[in-house]
Amino acid sequence: MKAARLHSYEEDHLHLDDVPEPDLQDPRDVIVRIGGAGLCRTDLHIIEGIWKDIAEPELPYTLGHENAGWVEEVGDGVRSVAPGDAVIVHPLMTCGVCLGCRRGEDMYCENSLFPGLNGEGGFANFLRTSERSLIKLDERLDPKDVAPFADAGITAYRAAKKAASRLDPGSRCVVIGVGGLGHVGVQVLRALCPTTIIAVDTSDESLRLAGELGADELVKSDDNVVEKVKELSDGRGVDAVIDFVAEHGTTEQGPPMLVQGGRYYVVGYGGRVDLAAIDVIFNEIEVIGSLVGNYVELLELMELAAQGKVELRAQTYGLDQINEAIDDFMAGQIHGRGVIVPDGRPA
Ligand SMILES: [Zn+2]
Ligand SMILES: [Zn+2]
Repeated sequence: MKAARLHSYEEDHLHLDDVPEPDLQDPRDVIVRIGGAGLCRTDLHIIEGIWKDIAEPELPYTLGHENAGWVEEVGDGVRSVAPGDAVIVHPLMTCGVCLGCRRGEDMYCENSLFPGLNGEGGFANFLRTSERSLIKLDERLDPKDVAPFADAGITAYRAAKKAASRLDPGSRCVVIGVGGLGHVGVQVLRALCPTTIIAVDTSDESLRLAGELGADELVKSDDNVVEKVKELSDGRGVDAVIDFVAEHGTTEQGPPMLVQGGRYYVVGYGGRVDLAAIDVIFNEIEVIGSLVGNYVELLELMELAAQGKVELRAQTYGLDQINEAIDDFMAGQIHGRGVIVPDGRPA
């Protein structure tokens, strides 16, 4: 089969190689025929070498961790899916027996593998995963339309759901960054709670999208962004800020936007959260991290997608166009999300 593999951190592109198809290694393994694989900023970070000492993958290997497709082959122990089923793949292969798994928090698994990060990923015709990672798709959903939900989507969902659970009528929530994650975050907030959503971004195009997807107020980010947000909240500040960027200075802007007792959710990464202890105490600010999402959260997001309440804006590319997709992504030419569709070019 064809697979887009990273050969060297010195290069800024992937190689389209002929490699053997993956095989079943465990009775609960499943081989998935890829119908769509989302291109993620994490892929760019992997190519740049940022993850090499964290994930320590052996080169060359296949990237792609936002996968959906159809079950091709199942191991002897598999009971919940069968060949032909359309599925989305939770990004982590988890053990099921450690304490993290038993709590239902897949991301806390102590014996996990993250295909596309530290194992063979989905920029290929086939992917090996395990039964535990698979969610069957509603017949209204097509794999290529939902693939990025497998990582970008649940990451936004988990953070927005945490925030929504404490956002009552009359509350206000700022969403910083309406890109691949943020545009899902806005829709999830809209679907789950009655809060007033204030979208903050540097791009007019992204703010227009935020408005289309349900944001109530649109704020162009500049040096006065904190004052602008405060003006929209009677000078008091907002109840929650979800920071999908968390670099380029947003971590200095987010906390001062909060009212006393407000919550600052950190989803993006790259920056530092640096707060004076006196401000944390006096304003009773909570700083809350959010890491990808668990299986049930992906299941809930698929329900919202099937109901048409959350949709992905995406641009598709053939597997042989992977480097074109990477170039477009680096140049800021992809609006919403890039999705690699291995079998032939999209029409
Ligand atoms: Zn991703
Ligand atoms: Zn586990």
